[in-house]
Amino acid sequence: MNHPQAAPARLILGKTKNEEFKMNYATIKPRDIANGPGVRVSLFVSGCTHHCPGCFNQEAWDFSYGEPFTQEVVDRILELLRPGFVRGLTLLGGEPFEPQNQGPIVDLLRQVKAQMPEKSIWAFSGYLFDRDILSGRLGDTREYLSYLDVLVDGPFIQAKKNLALRFRGSENQRLIDVPASLAKGEIVLWEDWQTQKKGMEEYAQHQG
Ligand code: SF4
Repeated sequence: MNHPQAAPARLILGKTKNEEFKMNYATIKPRDIANGPGVRVSLFVSGCTHHCPGCFNQEAWDFSYGEPFTQEVVDRILELLRPGFVRGLTLLGGEPFEPQNQGPIVDLLRQVKAQMPEKSIWAFSGYLFDRDILSGRLGDTREYLSYLDVLVDGPFIQAKKNLALRFRGSENQRLIDVPASLAKGEIVLWEDWQTQKKGMEEYAQHQG
């Protein structure tokens, strides 16, 4: 797999503390097969400060767009995740790593992992894993990262748009294996180890 960045940076975990903020969300896709491997539940949170030209989701730049993210919404996501054919949860936006969105998302992930540790967690962020997230400039992301399997990082760049890419829109974006990167202290790209059609047959039977 091509690596869009030259040399992987040494990882340093952030030390500042997250603050708790209320969050809104734009939508939940109960059965999504486009944003990560297998059948997934996708949560699109509201609020994004990147404002990438060509963004597919401009209405979600506004932090007050959509509906309040409440425990009832968390309970709904947990129920959607429960069937065996659902491989996991994907976080998109908006921007799931905006500091004001982190507290509610960590709360959600804590509950998902406590009840269904086998489900994989993917997140899409316009921030860079090493420069922005691990540096601590977005707050203390250590618990958040401890729940993630894959982070697709970097902003959407229209000039680098490539429709042939899997799970990402532009060539600068990286699919990062988060646990392997944290363990190794350098960026490890996600290899397609999860892309067998596991879960898809069960989903087809469930639908049929
Ligand atoms: S990070 Fe995503 S949601 Fe935010 S402006 Fe860029 S493409 Fe749009």
